[in-house]
Amino acid sequence: MDFGGKYNRKNLILLGSTGSIGTQTLSVVEKWPQYFKVAALAAGSNVKLLEEQARKFKPGFISLAQKEGAEELRKRLRDTSVKVLCGEEGLWEIASTPEADWVVNALVGFDGLKPTVAALQEGKNIALANKETLVAGGELIMNLAEEKGVTIVPIDSEHSAIFQCLQGENWERVSKIVLTASGGPFRGCTLKELSKVTLAQALEHPNWVMGKKITIDSATLMNKGLEVLEAQILFGLDLDQIEVVVHPQSIIHSMVEFIDGSVKAQLGVPDMGVPIQFALTYPDRWPSSFERVNWRETERLSFEMPDMDSFRCLKLAYEAGKIGGTMPAAMNAANERAVELFLADRISFLDIPRIIEETMHKHKVISCPSLSDIIDVDREVREQKIL
Ligand code: MN
Repeated sequence: MDFGGKYNRKNLILLGSTGSIGTQTLSVVEKWPQYFKVAALAAGSNVKLLEEQARKFKPGFISLAQKEGAEELRKRLRDTSVKVLCGEEGLWEIASTPEADWVVNALVGFDGLKPTVAALQEGKNIALANKETLVAGGELIMNLAEEKGVTIVPIDSEHSAIFQCLQGENWERVSKIVLTASGGPFRGCTLKELSKVTLAQALEHPNWVMGKKITIDSATLMNKGLEVLEAQILFGLDLDQIEVVVHPQSIIHSMVEFIDGSVKAQLGVPDMGVPIQFALTYPDRWPSSFERVNWRETERLSFEMPDMDSFRCLKLAYEAGKIGGTMPAAMNAANERAVELFLADRISFLDIPRIIEETMHKHKVISCPSLSDIIDVDREVREQKIL
């Protein structure tokens, strides 16, 4: 498809290029080479895939998490002009690459925060899939975005849904938003049943194919908790304006209720390709071949309330949001650490909310934190002894 010179080519920096969101972003980019150029890539340690991506998309820079990976990739790309960097400094350098105007942040966890700040400081627009940036960074991120006059377009499917419903609307006329949740693999389970679930069961998500960390977060409902806090910051809402409803079919991706009682929803087959493409083509919509909802086969859309007594993570997230300051950052760090331990099969499923609750109980909140306060809190929580 040709848009007849209507659009300038977007120069992208893609952080987290080898993950689930990263690879799907590159499949969108690949469809429109005349409209997207990849200026830089960053990823963890998947050298083989990064080499393929480098040869295909020809970025100027690539950054890897570890030195060893960077050395290996440098060797493999000796015949090219790609500059290979590493570590936090590499990520920072890449996020501020001058020739790019958009950063797609698809990093996992708190590691996504600093590169977002780097990109914002350079006045780059952000397509944001890293929810921990907003949860831990909070107001700081939105204030910086406002100061620099940049646009943050959410990629998280629920927030993309809300953002789409808000196009052409006055955001001050919103009475509340309804975040839908699939309920995850343990929907309807009692606490007793949850005490016996295994890692393999937790990794089986019914509707979405995602990375491991977010899949566990979906099983505990912490993913929805993080999304509540993400929405609070992104859309400037009070917590009591954010409702979570379990909708097992994942066809409605979220809803906005306005002050006149009217409700708008965004629907579609659960496929992250749609919100990714929307973020890249925003404010326009471009064609796609993503699967369509088949209404003949969609018998019903159902709703139920989340069980916050069994799925304590969601309740803890609301509590952290109410307390504010560095509490959401502390909660997020405790969750990341607990999920790591659960993925290593060292703690049980219900240890996750227990560890988060204990951390929150001990945490001394700093209100209106600076970036370094937030980074310190994150490190302190990760270093605390929890086993
Ligand atoms: Mn989501």
